[in-house]
Amino acid sequence: MIFFSGVDQSTRKEIVEMLGFQEGSLPIKYMGLPLISTRLKKEHCGGLITRITTRVLNWTAKALSYAGRLQLVQSVLTSMHVYWSSIFMIPKAVVDEVEQICRSFLWHGIEKSKRGVLVSWSTVCKEKSCGGLGKTKFVCCVGDQNETEKKMSFWGITKTTYSSWSWRILLRIRDIALHMFAYTIGSGKKFFFWYDPWCHGKSLAMLFPEINLRGSHISKKAVASDFWRNGRWHVPTRWDSNMTRVLNFLQLNFILDERKQDIISWGPDKKGEFHVKSALKCLVTPAQKLEWTKLVWSRSSIPRHSFILWLTVHNRLKTKKKLYDWGIIDSNVCGFCYVSCEDVEHLFFQCDFIQTVWSRILVAMKVHRRPFTWRREVSWFMRKANGKSLLASMRRTTFAASVYAIWKVRNELIFFYVQKGYSNKSRDSIVEIYGEILKRQCRTRSDARLV
Ligand SMILES: [Zn+2]
Repeated sequence: MIFFSGVDQSTRKEIVEMLGFQEGSLPIKYMGLPLISTRLKKEHCGGLITRITTRVLNWTAKALSYAGRLQLVQSVLTSMHVYWSSIFMIPKAVVDEVEQICRSFLWHGIEKSKRGVLVSWSTVCKEKSCGGLGKTKFVCCVGDQNETEKKMSFWGITKTTYSSWSWRILLRIRDIALHMFAYTIGSGKKFFFWYDPWCHGKSLAMLFPEINLRGSHISKKAVASDFWRNGRWHVPTRWDSNMTRVLNFLQLNFILDERKQDIISWGPDKKGEFHVKSALKCLVTPAQKLEWTKLVWSRSSIPRHSFILWLTVHNRLKTKKKLYDWGIIDSNVCGFCYVSCEDVEHLFFQCDFIQTVWSRILVAMKVHRRPFTWRREVSWFMRKANGKSLLASMRRTTFAASVYAIWKVRNELIFFYVQKGYSNKSRDSIVEIYGEILKRQCRTRSDARLV
């Protein structure tokens, strides 16, 4: 099959007859992507939306915790989107739709709904250290240059005729991208002399804007090695007195080495390797780092424990107080003590019943004091469970596990034991769960220490 673009009808016919191929029309699919010559439109992205939706429907989301769903969103759905983004500039409407599917899957599983979102998507997309979940926000693109532009510096292209739409967009954002690349000059054979930013992150054109190349003997396509002979720079200076300054600048700062390669590396990464994540970091304005995130996202904690703790710190758990205020339930009384209103402050750890359990946990963590209010407890653990020591790590893990266990048993109490009222079974189960979690944590930590 043969495809044409910008070829008149008679020439087309001639070529088809000569080659014997069938004439095809765009778009077609190639490696799962639409092959088109024009700007990508929403209707071309049906394949991406269908793939993501099919994948979501195939997962047994009901059995997954929030942390499990987040992992699937991060690893599978995001990578499908990134694959497309590495080829095309995805239309905003499609990006919005993909984000909607991810958001809905995270909070509701396979059920598509905009309601019941516990934490806003903008917060979810923040870095973990800034109070979010580190969900990758969708932006990215690449483009293709035409043959003429391949022979010129990317930084020196002024006219963009016959280039693809996405390539023209890339050229437009050059100023933002400039500081993301690190140019290390070696032999100087690959770097364009005037326009590539090989002079400590800047090009000669930027450093000496007063010099106009028109009328000079320096070609736009000249490379740095063209002006290096016998261990010295040889730059024509007669046509512009300012060129003497350029020559002096080069003599003082740069020496070319035939044996070395010119290297372009990715500036934001220490190893110079490109990652979408590091590119996003550069593009998104950094949010303020929050201290409590170290307590929540401890490496030794189980992800689903961390997720519930994260929701608790954001005060986004659906406590009885919230449900009552929203008019969903008739009573906001705590299911453990049947005395006070159930909100985060009461549940963690002011409730009389929870206090007795929490006191035992504190002793197990070598903390000899009475339980505090929720805010004070978080603040205390931020200070006293900070660092790399085994005790600090164990305290962080246990704190997250305890919050998770209380929330889990509270839900069991409501959904399974509510018919029977307050029973000893619920008391027993919470103590049992605490005991098991603690035993497991202590075993894991001691095993890790032995290794
Ligand atoms: Zn209570």
